[in-house]
Amino acid sequence: MVAIQFDVKGFLETSFLEWPGRISSVIFLAGCNFRCPYCHNHPLVLAPARLPTIPLESILSFLGGHKDWIDGVVITGGEPTLYAALPSLVQQFKERGFRVKLDTNGSNPILLKELLDNHLLDYVAMDIKAPLEENKYTLVAGVEVDLSRINQSIQLLLDADIPYEFRTTVLPLFVTREDVLAIARVIKGGKRYVLQNFNPQNPLDPRLKEEAPYQPAELEEIAQQLMDYISHIQTIY
Ligand code: SF4
Repeated sequence: MVAIQFDVKGFLETSFLEWPGRISSVIFLAGCNFRCPYCHNHPLVLAPARLPTIPLESILSFLGGHKDWIDGVVITGGEPTLYAALPSLVQQFKERGFRVKLDTNGSNPILLKELLDNHLLDYVAMDIKAPLEENKYTLVAGVEVDLSRINQSIQLLLDADIPYEFRTTVLPLFVTREDVLAIARVIKGGKRYVLQNFNPQNPLDPRLKEEAPYQPAELEEIAQQLMDYISHIQTIY
């Protein structure tokens, strides 16, 4: 069998945060097709070659030795769906008895569908960067985005029979209250929506270091206005 290369550039052995309710190991894959100005993983996005590659074998070996402790693997990035062979990577974890969570920006609905259709995922967290309007999405994603693909990914998750969440990083400069409401209308009936407050530490675009995030009370107010659309809303500061 020919080994498929995955550019694993980070591995967190144990996390209690990445997958609510589970103890997970987290794999960071290099590369992303977006350039969100607030991105904190920008070394993975802009200069992955500078980071050492972690052999998949060492990750599988760690997981094999901690089966009783780790109950899920989170695949994040960067953007994991840039790897056409992602299903084969997921398969390797599933074969070893691990549940798998995928973090994605939703830009590859074809691969997402393949993963869902083959029952390879146990949880998906999908970013929705902005309302589905070209100029707004371009501003927040830092590149032009085919919004029909984002919409297809949203519909796939809304119809999925596994747990999932939509996530939006909120920064007043990019995402207003009305914008959040517009997103909520698109994901109406969705299982879970996470509002992640902007963190000004070390963003991809250093000019954002000066930008103020929402105050906690403001964010709670925004969350309140979404109650009619989504049953479970979480705010993260
Ligand atoms: S989608 Fe945006 S925030 Fe996520 S890794 Fe890519 S550039 Fe960073």
